[in-house]
Amino acid sequence: MAAAKPGKKSKGKMISRFYKVSDGKLSCSGRPCDRCGSGTFMADHKDRWYCGKCQLTVWKKKE
Ligand SMILES: [Zn+2]
Repeated sequence: MAAAKPGKKSKGKMISRFYKVSDGKLSCSGRPCDRCGSGTFMADHKDRWYCGKCQLTVWKKKE
């Protein structure tokens, strides 16, 4: 009796855009979160860094 739900598979593009692979070496293009540690990278915004894990916002300093 249970209706089959349409299978939606969308995963695997969550974190990959924060990484860049060059010369076989994995380097991050983002900034490690101060609170979560080096394993978590913050999203790069125009005027701030934002951690999607702990919602930490670090404002970029204007020079
Ligand atoms: Zn964080």
